[in-house]
Amino acid sequence: MSTAGGVVRAPARAREIGAHVLQLFTKQPSRWHASELTEEDSSSFHAERIKHKIASAAAHDSYLTNLASPDRKLYARSLEAFVGELERCDRLGLDFLVCHPGSATNGDRASGLARNADAITEALTRVPSRTRVLLETTAGGGNRLGASFEELAVLIERVPGTLRRRLAVCLDTCHIYTAGYDLVSDYDGVMDHLDDAVGLRRLRLFHLNDSRHPLGSGKDRHEHIGRGALGEGPFRRIMTDPRFVDVPKIIETPKEADRVALDVRNLTLLRSFREGD
Ligand SMILES: [Zn+2]
Repeated sequence: MSTAGGVVRAPARAREIGAHVLQLFTKQPSRWHASELTEEDSSSFHAERIKHKIASAAAHDSYLTNLASPDRKLYARSLEAFVGELERCDRLGLDFLVCHPGSATNGDRASGLARNADAITEALTRVPSRTRVLLETTAGGGNRLGASFEELAVLIERVPGTLRRRLAVCLDTCHIYTAGYDLVSDYDGVMDHLDDAVGLRRLRLFHLNDSRHPLGSGKDRHEHIGRGALGEGPFRRIMTDPRFVDVPKIIETPKEADRVALDVRNLTLLRSFREGD
């Protein structure tokens, strides 16, 4: 959801498209700078959220942070930015902070995952909060981490047990498909694989997006539901899967010209799968 005019505007915009779940940025994602959220921002966001009946709310972290970076300066800057993200989520009372597992730009994936886990551990320690940190599955490509369920599992395992309860997973259908998980012809196999690697109980949020690019392409371009390489099938399965009834679902489909009409169409189509069940 757009936060033009301030985060306080997001719940009404979500209501406008008939959503009960929203995702926002708590600052401009392409800049390091973050202005402080005041007590007033926090209380008015909370009031708007109740007024517009938003059951779950998530933030997506900045595009600039790389908690896996081997560059010490970028790592330190990313860590401070991530702590700021978590503080702002806490202040707004958000349920989730979605983050990408970063990039091991020197090609050493194991130490990249370790650095990322250590950064998350430090952030969770410094910011006690009810906000859960969600690792998002990625499309992969190059040195980007998180394109396999096993990499997410390695990262989660490295975070100490008491803090690990505040760490979970966000599954993006477009990303896992282009990362090579065939949701179209092997939905059950993919979900079994996820269950074996990280456990379905750790799956706390879906990003439901169709994909412009094919299976295994490693590319991250979202498409409207049913109009991309995934088609309607996997979405029908997710919307009617009893294991996921209570897992919030978010669309990140293209906005183009008429944001409201396109969002409403995607949400209506998704809900129609459930009604046809
Ligand atoms: Zn996503």
